[in-house]
Amino acid sequence: MTQETQIETARGPIGADSLGRVLVHEHVFVISPEIQMNYPEEWGSDEFRIDDAAQRLNELHAAGIGTIIDPTALGLGRYVPRIVEVAERTELNIVVATGLYTFNELPHYYRRRQHGSDGVDVMTTHFVRDITEGIADAFDTSGRPVRAGVIKCATDLPGVTEDVARTLRACARAHRETGCPITTHTHARSERGLDQQRIFAEEGVDLSRVIIGHCGDTDDLDYLQRILDQGSIIGMDRFGIDGYLTTEQRVSVVAALCQRGYVEQLVLSHDASCYIDWIVGEVPLGTLPNWHYLHISQDVVPALLAAGVTDQQIDTMLVGNPARFLASVGAGAY
Ligand SMILES: [Zn+2]
Repeated sequence: MTQETQIETARGPIGADSLGRVLVHEHVFVISPEIQMNYPEEWGSDEFRIDDAAQRLNELHAAGIGTIIDPTALGLGRYVPRIVEVAERTELNIVVATGLYTFNELPHYYRRRQHGSDGVDVMTTHFVRDITEGIADAFDTSGRPVRAGVIKCATDLPGVTEDVARTLRACARAHRETGCPITTHTHARSERGLDQQRIFAEEGVDLSRVIIGHCGDTDDLDYLQRILDQGSIIGMDRFGIDGYLTTEQRVSVVAALCQRGYVEQLVLSHDASCYIDWIVGEVPLGTLPNWHYLHISQDVVPALLAAGVTDQQIDTMLVGNPARFLASVGAGAY
């Protein structure tokens, strides 16, 4: 990482050394745009949701977090102009994403339009544009286009379907062209992280510039070590989603991996949001009381310290590793 490496955020580029503590996988809004356009009752108004989000993110900033990476790609209701409005009302930095989230099939738009006249996958062209030119209708306070700082894709229980494979390869190619790092969603218990690493490696991706997400959903240390030994960072990024593993179990996996010498490849987060229309009710939900932005600051860090993780290791996971990951964009294309 060089001093001058700039990280793209919703308020414009900032130095990699001013990110502070980073939660690498937090959404602001996860919504179904076509449903919301036609049935807007629960969402209410943009004004209300933006105010609510700014308040929650200000609380997170007050709890000592400087930056979130918001991996809300296409398929999750990405609308960056709204994120810019939230970012203007908080000191917290928000890194926004390009990429696409699907477990099975692509939207018909991409299914029918495979390649542009240049022979390049239309998805790759879109992702590269988000990274190099900026995202539609999103401008920071100085009027500069807001650019994506991370590329997101997903592989879940259905595995590497034809459309999922095309998505992973389109993301890998956008990464190789721009240097922008990759973060993923996986289904940990079916070992989807290894499928992703295989495809990224086939595409020539440096696996150290990839966060394999949702690895914290399993306590299978053998699986996690196989991913780690190929160089990727792993996302211990669903603290509060107790249905997969409890906080106690997630803490003991992180502590065990720190003991085994993997601290430089671990990052922490909740995969929480201010509002998610997939689930009835406001966050935090009664069924998942710990699934909110403050759980790591309030509960997880003290629990990690009690489990023998050092202050320095906490800093490595929350500051050093995310900064190295985001700043790898400065290492450029290849
Ligand atoms: Zn997520």
